[in-house]
Amino acid sequence: MQIDILTLFPGMFESPFGDSIMKRAIEKKIVEIGLHNIRDYSKSKQKSVDDYAFGGGAGMVMQIEPIDLCMQKLKAERTYDEIIYLSPDGELFDQKLANQLSTKNNLMFLCGHYKGVDERVREHLVTREISIGNYVLTGGELATAVIVDAIVRLIPGVLSDETSALSDSFQDDLISPPVYTRPAEYKDWKVPEILLSGHEAKIEEWRHEQSLLRTKLRRPKMFGKEE
Ligand code: SAM
Repeated sequence: MQIDILTLFPGMFESPFGDSIMKRAIEKKIVEIGLHNIRDYSKSKQKSVDDYAFGGGAGMVMQIEPIDLCMQKLKAERTYDEIIYLSPDGELFDQKLANQLSTKNNLMFLCGHYKGVDERVREHLVTREISIGNYVLTGGELATAVIVDAIVRLIPGVLSDETSALSDSFQDDLISPPVYTRPAEYKDWKVPEILLSGHEAKIEEWRHEQSLLRTKLRRPKMFGKEE
């Protein structure tokens, strides 16, 4: 998968993409990340990329031209399945959307900053707008890192045990059951006996019951929708 990210702060991706699963996926060439500094596409002498909002008001607005020029260059190189603008008022990101995006070949993410981008970018240049929650971040970089992490771990070959992602919370509209590891007893806190029984079918049954219970308790709106 090719993921191109348009940003004013490429350095913000060093840490989230430089460790753990993301690092491995990049090293294995399962995913290729292109970081593109929007400032490099500014035609102004000062390399400015933002300006005051027409009509006044606080906060600067990201200009359309550098974004369009950067997108034009990238679109000449490949066809994108989605061009995504990160926005607090976009569709809410969830596991279903992560699953859907993980099957794509080429994705582009546009990170906003300041008051956001000139509305014409949203009207004419992007295909989708995604939010990671009803709160406002300083920029789209952290939101992009969250989304990219959630989709890359679903691509076959990224996790050492591919079935692991399938048993995570929100797959099949269920919350994951509790997990334990050694020691079987710590202080006087014991691991549920069933997990030590070696009886696979009964363990599976217990896990499913726990998933249902947790879903009912923690995500009541999701309960009953499981496939
Ligand atoms: N003025 C905008 C508003 O009220 O909706 C907020 C702009 S915010 C300070 C700057 C940028 O951060 C946005 O353009 C967007 O790219 C990103 N951003 C902020 N919160 C986000 C969220 N919850 N999900 C996705 N992106 C977000």
